[in-house]
Amino acid sequence: MSTHLIIVGAGQAAAQTILTLTQKRYPGRITVVGDEPYPPYQRPPLSKKYLSGELERERLFVRPTEFYEQHGVTLILGAKAERLEPVQQRLTLADGRQLDYDRLLLATGSRVRKIDVPGADLAGIHYLRTIADADGILGGLGPDKRLVIVGAGYIGLEIAAVARAHRAHVTVLEATDRVMARVVCPEVGTFYRGVHEAAGVEIACDTAVRGFAGDDHVTGVIASDGREYPCDVAVVGIGIVPETELAEQAGLVCDDGIRVDEYACTSEPQIYAAGDCTNHPNAVLGRRIRLESVHNAIEQSKTAALSLLGEPAAYAQIPWFWSDQYDLKLQIAGISTGYDRVVLRGDPAERKFAAYYLRDSRLIAVDAINSPKDFLLGKRLVAQGAMPSPQRIEDTTADLATVESGDPTGISDDGEVQGASGAGLDRQA
Ligand SMILES: Cc1cc2nc3c(=O)[nH]c(=O)nc-3n(C[C@H](O)[C@H](O)[C@H](O)COP(=O)(O)OP(=O)(O)OC[C@H]3O[C@@H](n4cnc5c(N)ncnc54)[C@H](O)[C@@H]3O)c2cc1C
Repeated sequence: MSTHLIIVGAGQAAAQTILTLTQKRYPGRITVVGDEPYPPYQRPPLSKKYLSGELERERLFVRPTEFYEQHGVTLILGAKAERLEPVQQRLTLADGRQLDYDRLLLATGSRVRKIDVPGADLAGIHYLRTIADADGILGGLGPDKRLVIVGAGYIGLEIAAVARAHRAHVTVLEATDRVMARVVCPEVGTFYRGVHEAAGVEIACDTAVRGFAGDDHVTGVIASDGREYPCDVAVVGIGIVPETELAEQAGLVCDDGIRVDEYACTSEPQIYAAGDCTNHPNAVLGRRIRLESVHNAIEQSKTAALSLLGEPAAYAQIPWFWSDQYDLKLQIAGISTGYDRVVLRGDPAERKFAAYYLRDSRLIAVDAINSPKDFLLGKRLVAQGAMPSPQRIEDTTADLATVESGDPTGISDDGEVQGASGAGLDRQA
């Protein structure tokens, strides 16, 4: 009898796991349980081309439904997995259905962090995680509509850019003192703030939200200083939390995400996890991390699939991420947390430059704005542990590609660590 793999969650990680397994002719049966009514789809366009109306819904799907049928993958959609019993190897759905498994992959992603202030449940207040959320926001956008966005992170600012294209009046309220504070340096944040303000977006930093005004429908957002920002629609983008509910209920070890090893295996040997929901060791960073990115969802799912196929290969990647706002493509290689120096290469006034982040003289991350060359180079140099001098980074005529590696650990040109051993990862985690 063939083994039965159940994948819980039908998002980016589920799709990639299925793609890898089918490419490699996985001999077992595969069932996917997803609580949304759609087959796996890509979320990034929800705050970009889907919201602007440039991309049709069908183009969001990683593969059409027929693909799954053709490969014998059973999709159970619109169904929430509610109970996981590792000893019995049984999954119970919200409608009472019970499914037995031999192996199970948790690909449950993240859920939005909700704002807990008076009026937060009024109609017209949105979050953005799903197609349904994007459709809800789209319904409220249009010329002269007043949109207030709570949170100046990627999602909030991407929505602001698209809303300006819809000719809405846009205000962004941010609790900290600058935009994208969690992910980019003040220099890059200041640049983005300027771009948004030039496009007509009002940005108020140091402005926390105290509540929402309105009877049934939101009419305004009340800031901590008592000022009310009138609106027809509000969007809250204050981050996400890993979706670990099912894992925790099943007794799996969770700690800011479902804890997995470098092979995507959880604390239960028959259960794997991949994507946003995991907390995993990263050999390149030398520590555990939880990531919210398509790249991680894709690559960690390949790792999980290889483990399921009995061909384990340790996960070791340079994290990367992107954000599209107006005509600006921001590509980030590495994680800048803990940097002690930032050096700009290129001129922000030309809307094409990069920020190189150093820690103890070693390059740890690069933010490239409209500069794919800096992104690709940065990815490689970060992987190599390169130590470029600030003078050389600043000098746009200098060739950074030849900079010496600070830590030659055998890393390929695309930033992937070769042959990282499990023991090494455990030691570094
Ligand atoms: C608007 C938006 C824009 C983004 N832009 C970018 C970007 O530009 N670049 C980038 O790298 N990343 C971006 N991301 C992040 C990226 O989309 C995620 O990192 C990626 O989707 C993670 O994939 P995943 O499969 O782990 O989770 P998800 O894609 O979130 O899929 C998880 C699925 O599991 C379902 N689920 C959860 N629990 C259960 C349960 N108990 N039973 C059944 N189903 C369940 C969820 O409803 C969801 O459908 C963006 C995200 C959003 C929302």
